[in-house]
Amino acid sequence: MSFTFDYYSISLLIGGFTAFLSGLVVYIHNRKKLENIAWLLSNITSAIWSFGYFLTITATSKDFAIWSDWVLHVASIYIPACYFLSVISITDTYEKYKKQLVAFALIGCIFLVLAPTTLFVRDVIPKFQFNFVPDAGPLYIYYTIYFFVLVLCALYILFQQYQITTDKIQKNRYGYMILFTLLGFGGGGSVFFITFNIPILPYGLLLFSLYPAVSGYAIFRYQLFNVKVITAELVVFTLWISLLLRILLATQTVERLINGGLLLFTVVAGILLIRSVIKEVSLREKIENLAKDLEKANGALEGANNNLAKANSDLATVNDRLKELDQLKSEFLSLATHQIRAPLTAIKGYASLLLEGDYGELAPETRGAVNTIFQSCQNLVVIVGEFLDISRIEQGRMKYEMADFDVSKLCEEVLVELKPNIEKTGLTSSFTVDDKAGDKSWIVNADQGKIKQVIGNVIDNAIKYTPSGSIAITVSQKAKKVLIAVTDTGIGIDKDDIPKLFSKFTRAKDANKQNVIGTGLGLYVAKQMVEAQNGRVWVESKGKGLGSTFFIELSIGTIEK
Ligand code: ADP
Repeated sequence: MSFTFDYYSISLLIGGFTAFLSGLVVYIHNRKKLENIAWLLSNITSAIWSFGYFLTITATSKDFAIWSDWVLHVASIYIPACYFLSVISITDTYEKYKKQLVAFALIGCIFLVLAPTTLFVRDVIPKFQFNFVPDAGPLYIYYTIYFFVLVLCALYILFQQYQITTDKIQKNRYGYMILFTLLGFGGGGSVFFITFNIPILPYGLLLFSLYPAVSGYAIFRYQLFNVKVITAELVVFTLWISLLLRILLATQTVERLINGGLLLFTVVAGILLIRSVIKEVSLREKIENLAKDLEKANGALEGANNNLAKANSDLATVNDRLKELDQLKSEFLSLATHQIRAPLTAIKGYASLLLEGDYGELAPETRGAVNTIFQSCQNLVVIVGEFLDISRIEQGRMKYEMADFDVSKLCEEVLVELKPNIEKTGLTSSFTVDDKAGDKSWIVNADQGKIKQVIGNVIDNAIKYTPSGSIAITVSQKAKKVLIAVTDTGIGIDKDDIPKLFSKFTRAKDANKQNVIGTGLGLYVAKQMVEAQNGRVWVESKGKGLGSTFFIELSIGTIEK
C-alpha cells in the first residue's frame, strides 16, 4: 500500500495525531474527572475520523475505502456528542443538559445503524484529486444537520457560560474552548462540501490540523497546575510530530526506517520524561501544600502563643493584685482584731467581776445573763486570737521561741486545765504515757506556748465534737519523735472531709450540728504552727460516728534522758 501525501492528507494526519495526544495527556493527568474523560473521548473520536478520512482519500482499493469510510463515519457520528459532553462537563452544566446529551446520543445510534447502508453514504467515489471520497446518500443531510446542531448547541452553552462567569480563569478556558470549536469543527466540517458534491475543496482541514490550538487550550489548563509539565509535553510532542512528518515526507525507505526508529525511541523516552516531570511536579505541589499548611499551623500556633503570653501576663497581674489584696486583708485583720481585743478584755473582766460579786450580789436571772456574756466573750477571745495568729502567720510575723521542754508534762497540764470542761459535758478522760521500760524522754524542742495552744485546741475540739463517751490522751515515742494522740469517741470524720480539714475556714459537713460557733480556723493555725516547728499534725477516723484521733508529732529535744 502506498499513500499520497499532500496538503490534505498531511493535515488530517497531523490533526488526528495531535488530537489523540491532547486527549491522552489530559486524561493521564486525571483519570477520574469527567471533563478529562470526555475530552479524551471527543479527541479519540476526532483522531479516528481523521485517520479514517486519510485512509479513504488515499485508499487504492474500493473495498478498503468502503471499510475506512465506515470507520470514519462511526467515529464522526459520535464526535459532536462526545464534544457536547466535554463542553457540559467543563462548564459544569452536566446536570442541566444531561437529558439533551442522552437524546443526542440516541439520535447518534440511529445514524450508526444507517451508516453501513446506501441511505447514509451512497458510495465512495474518486473526486478531485482524492482516490475515494464518500458520496452523500438521501439521509446524509439529516446527519449533517444533527452534526451542526450539536456543535451549535455546544457553542451556545460555551458562549452563555463565557458571559455568565466572573471568574477570569474560567472565562479564559471557555474562550479557548470556543476558539477550538471553531477551528476543529469549522476545519473538519469543510469535508461536508465534497460529500454533497459541492465543488469546494476541504481547505479547512488546515484549520483542523491546527490542533495545537487544542494543546494551547491544554497549556492554558495546565498553567493552572504547572507550566513545567506542559513545557516538557510540548517539547516531546513537537519532536514526535516533526519526526512523523519526516517519515511521511521521506522519499527513501532507509530514511523512513531511520526516522521511524528515532520516533520509536523518542516516544518511549518522551513518555518516561513526561512521567518523571509529572511525578516531580506533583511532589512539589504536595510539598508546597504542606508548606502552606505548616505556615497556617504556625500562624495559628503563634496566635495561640500570643494569647497564652497575654493570658499569662494577665494572670501575673491578677496574681500580684491578689497578693496585694491578701496583704491588705491580713493587715486589716490584724488591726481590727487588735482593736477588738481591748474592749473584749474589758467586757470579759467586768463580767468576771460581776460574777464574783464585786458589785454586789446578783439576782439568779442576772447571774445567768452575765454568765452568758462572760462565755461569749471567752469564745470571742479565742476567735480573735485565731485571727491574730493567722494574720501573723500570713505576714510571716509569727515568732517561735524554740526551747527544750517535757511535752508529757505539758499535756497533763492542759488536760488538768480543761478537765472542768470535760466533766461539765459528762465525758471521761484518760492520760497515758507509753513508757513501760521507763527509759524514754518526752523532751521536745519547740515553742512551748504554741504547742500548748495546739494541744489545747485539739483537746478542746475533742470535747466539742464528742457528745458522749471519752477522750484519751497518749504520749509515745518512736524514731526520735514524740507522738501525742488525742482519741475521742465522738462524731468522727467522713473520709472525704479529712484532706480539707486543715485548710483555712474549713469545717466538716455536719460540724454545725454539733458546734455552731466554730470558725474552721483552729486546725489551720495548729498545722501552720506545728509545721513551722518541724512537726506534723494529722487526723485518722474510721468514719462518721466512729470517733477520731488527732496526732501531733514533734522532734525530740537536744537534752535526752
Ligand atoms: P472549728 O472547730 O472552729 O470549726 P477547727 O479548725 O478547730 O475549727 O476544726 C475544723 C473542723 O474539723 C471542725 O469544724 C470539725 O468539722 C472538724 N473536727 C475537728 N476536731 C474534730 C473532732 N475531734 N471530731 C470530729 N470532727 C472534728
